[in-house]
Amino acid sequence: MKAPAMKNTPQRHGDITNPATGEVISRVPFSTAADIDAAVRRAQKAFPDWADMPPMRRARIMFRFVELLNKNADELARIVSTEHGKVQVDAAGEVQRGIEIAEFASAIPNFLKGEYSDSVGTGVDSYSMRQPLGIVAGITPFNFPAMVPMWMFPIAITCGNCFILKPSERDPSAADFLAKLLEDAGLPDGVFQVVHGDKEAVDAILHHPDIAAVSFVGSTPVAEYIYKTGTSNGKRVQALGGAKNHMVVMPDADMDQAADALMGAAFGSAGERCMAISVAVAVTDQVGDKLIAKLKPLIENLKVGPGSDKASEMGPLITRQHCDKVAGYVALGEKEGAKLVVDGRKLAVKGHEKGFFIGGCLFDKVTPEMRIYKEEIFGPVLAVVRAKSYAEAVSLIQNHEYANGTAIFTNDGRTARNFARDIRVGMVGINVPIPVPVAMHSFGGWKRSLFGDVHMHGMEGVRFFTRLKTVSARWPHGPAEGADYHFPQNK
Ligand code: NAD
Repeated sequence: MKAPAMKNTPQRHGDITNPATGEVISRVPFSTAADIDAAVRRAQKAFPDWADMPPMRRARIMFRFVELLNKNADELARIVSTEHGKVQVDAAGEVQRGIEIAEFASAIPNFLKGEYSDSVGTGVDSYSMRQPLGIVAGITPFNFPAMVPMWMFPIAITCGNCFILKPSERDPSAADFLAKLLEDAGLPDGVFQVVHGDKEAVDAILHHPDIAAVSFVGSTPVAEYIYKTGTSNGKRVQALGGAKNHMVVMPDADMDQAADALMGAAFGSAGERCMAISVAVAVTDQVGDKLIAKLKPLIENLKVGPGSDKASEMGPLITRQHCDKVAGYVALGEKEGAKLVVDGRKLAVKGHEKGFFIGGCLFDKVTPEMRIYKEEIFGPVLAVVRAKSYAEAVSLIQNHEYANGTAIFTNDGRTARNFARDIRVGMVGINVPIPVPVAMHSFGGWKRSLFGDVHMHGMEGVRFFTRLKTVSARWPHGPAEGADYHFPQNK
């Protein structure tokens, strides 16, 4: 259900580009503060009945939505691939991970069960319940136009909230498609709405007095702004930001497995994943030499092409501007003194000369003071840092400003266990390069990769989109006993 555009408001638009061809394929209208207000008013009308509906019935609508998602998964993946650029199998993967959150949300009656204590005092029983917050909003990034919205809204709406989604203006059509499926599943009008736009729409959400909570995923500077502005306006906010994920390769690791894992984790989705591995930490020089020797030919032979071509392993970047920015980082890395082993800037994709393509890039001998190490590049650029020891590798990660995900490749259980326990990062993989938690667990980083306390989906999602109420109940009989000025206690 799209929020209606206000009449007589001259509307700003954004261009949607096919990144594989560079062509503008459609335009998206940008919402104003008045549009956001209209969406909130529509949600307010829907909220009382929706919040009162038994959770089991809300869950049934989610079941139907899951069925429709399964039926339409290929079409959704095609929409994602066309506007984002990622290859079809990758788009299908993000759709599947999104469906799993909707499946999780279908079990919401179980998660909303409160707690009950009989006889907390003489003749007094106590119980708790989780209630929806009201009207809540989600603001999402371009890189997972189907999955990241689905991290949020299936749980938010089955908890009884009304949800307003502001997807990325770069690839907004997946959100409209999801809205249509929800409508077809029987979701009442106003429970889920999509508003499009840029900063103007986001600011209207952040300042709207009747939006109770904001769930955000995007870059760190914007996440920090969303968190500060939203919380200063009295909203509950979770704001997930950027990343620089390290994968530690120990000398006892299987080097072929480590190299294959690095290929998928660094170059899948052209590195435009918040859980992409952008730094490989080789523990010892020998490991560094082996990894470089294995990675170089693999990267040089990566099949880069349009997402619509089944043979492509890596697609284009999202915009020309972003492609230039990534190429700028490659130039910067050379200037900073890192060794450029594979230079993807020379790549040309035949028949797609205007597409936003850059090939895989590999740097060796990257050091912690370089900007290509410190900053999130968000492209197919892998930096190899050489560490003398496990302790040095760990200290690199502990000192980085981002702490979204990390991984270690080793065959030693004790090293793996110590790493998992000691590392100050939100999501950890042991011989798993992209440790994105599944639906019933929760997704979130630490440090400047997440502002707020609560992670996304799983039980953390249920907690974020509900507030707890605890009731103490007594049914007195007999005459009044007179006022009691003691603090209630069991004695
Ligand atoms: P972005 O921060 O540019 O945009 C995210 C959303 O914020 C969009 O809806 C956009 O319209 C809005 N926005 C952009 N600039 C704004 C501003 N100045 N004021 C208010 N709103 C603004 O992010 P992106 O480029 O779409 O996505 C890539 C980033 O998202 C990367 O940094 C990536 O690491 C991060 N990301 C993080 C996670 C995570 O879970 N931590 C997941 C996916 C992506």
